[in-house]
Amino acid sequence: MFFVAVLLMGAAGLFGLAADTITHKENKVIQEINFSPVHCFNKPLEKLVIRPDFIGCIIGEDLPLGESAIVESTERPKDLHPQVLARFLSAQAAAKEVGIEMHIDSGYRTIETQNYLFQRAIKEHKTPEEAIKWVLPGDLSRHPWGLALDVNLHHEKSGASWLEANGATFGLCRVYENEWWHFEPLIAPGGICPPLLPDASQVK
Ligand SMILES: [Zn+2]
Repeated sequence: MFFVAVLLMGAAGLFGLAADTITHKENKVIQEINFSPVHCFNKPLEKLVIRPDFIGCIIGEDLPLGESAIVESTERPKDLHPQVLARFLSAQAAAKEVGIEMHIDSGYRTIETQNYLFQRAIKEHKTPEEAIKWVLPGDLSRHPWGLALDVNLHHEKSGASWLEANGATFGLCRVYENEWWHFEPLIAPGGICPPLLPDASQVK
């Protein structure tokens, strides 16, 4: 048993801080290893890597995806949220491996641009009530928060279909029944996307 204990302690050593407890009893060694996975886009490998939390994403090599739904920050951003970009890059790389092309056709927008698009939609759809099902005004849309992606709207639809089927792995979800191209970081990577909302007028 001593030899087994030494082996397990050696393994615990390899896991570093992961060995929370090693309890020695007369004839028994109990080892508990607890760690939470951390999702990172590894730039050299161009793929999602999952590391234990005691290592975390590696600065300069990895882009963190974040480990929860991504919500509005306290300040208005000037670009796409970096964790949303890391999620998309991870998904894009995985899609590429199976021969599927994915592009961000529209991500971050200024509030002014979003309001312009809303006004244009009112002209197109005749009423604000109808327009809001397709384009939200600047203060309601998550595009100006850098938290929404329109994927393959001007490209082959298969990229967005692939993301709808596989995006949860990367924390990206399709949101609306009437917009196959619109994705948001509604969940933690590896979570389960909520049911689709009928359209953008349902946004809270
Ligand atoms: Zn959108």
